[in-house]
Amino acid sequence: MCSSANEVIDALKNFDIKGLAKDVLPIKLHMGEPGNKNFVSPSFVREVVRYVRGMGIRPVLWDTTVAYRSPRAAEEGYLDVARMHGFADICDVYIEDEGYSVEVQGYRFEVAKILQPLDFFMTISHVKGHIQAGFGGAIKNLGMGGVTKESKKKIHEWAKPVYYGIKCVLCGECEKACPFGAIRVDRAWSYSPRKCFGCGLCVEACPEGALKYLRENFLKGLAMSATAVMKGRRSVFVNVLINISAHCDCDPDGGPIICKDLGYLVSDDPVAIDSASLDLIYKNCGRVFEKVNGINPDPILDYAEKLGLGTKEYDLIRVR
Ligand code: SF4
Ligand code: SF4
Repeated sequence: MCSSANEVIDALKNFDIKGLAKDVLPIKLHMGEPGNKNFVSPSFVREVVRYVRGMGIRPVLWDTTVAYRSPRAAEEGYLDVARMHGFADICDVYIEDEGYSVEVQGYRFEVAKILQPLDFFMTISHVKGHIQAGFGGAIKNLGMGGVTKESKKKIHEWAKPVYYGIKCVLCGECEKACPFGAIRVDRAWSYSPRKCFGCGLCVEACPEGALKYLRENFLKGLAMSATAVMKGRRSVFVNVLINISAHCDCDPDGGPIICKDLGYLVSDDPVAIDSASLDLIYKNCGRVFEKVNGINPDPILDYAEKLGLGTKEYDLIRVR
């Protein structure tokens, strides 16, 4: 646990980054949607990059193009955003739009091609809320940010509801649960796929089992996708618990700050670092993610652990 960039650098010294990265180190980073103010600060990233360069390694900040309407949906547009947000003058920035196929539990994910020849990279994740996952940390940064648009869309599609009318009692709980107005329950049940974001809240809310996921729960989809990204490789993770907002850095607004700044965590295990991040937030601010997003994010840790991505167990060591 660290309270400054200098302490993060000290923590990073515990990992053999030079030996693992050899001559180039891609650093996975969400560089923020235009309008959002909560993404990881370029001044912090600059310190990490300086440390990496000091070892004779070439750092490259990278992310993937997004699947929704945004300048970040195209490589050039995302590079403009990286310049606007102060990342492009830190080091080279690479935006990946292509992938290669990796299978996890019978599902295929298109992992960012930049990773294909690599067995090591670094991941910097802003810890904040997320409207569909409850919260986003390292696992979400990998699972959504480490794959192509097609896979991103697929994970969202999987969590859309399938309706079994024979079980439905028209109680309206699903309509109440849907944050996007995609379900209407009157004398009949109706659903607008166009408005549905695939959050799965309606499926979880239905007391009769009349709604099922098209394929998988969104959190499980993310955990599987993150496992695909990490298949055959390792990473050192930095979780940034600063500007802990209600919503994700993909949101131009990002919502209010829901917990005080808690510093930084460093680990080589994406499940342990997210587990520790959640525990710290719960301890200091309560179950804020459920409060603002209506979703308990904890199951993502269980899914990820079962898939072998890491362990929820951790020792929190204070770096001074
Ligand atoms: S999956 Fe989410 S957005 Fe889609 S209908 Fe259900 S609650 Fe609404
Ligand atoms: S929550 Fe379930 S039972 Fe109630 S209206 Fe929706 S689908 Fe029907």
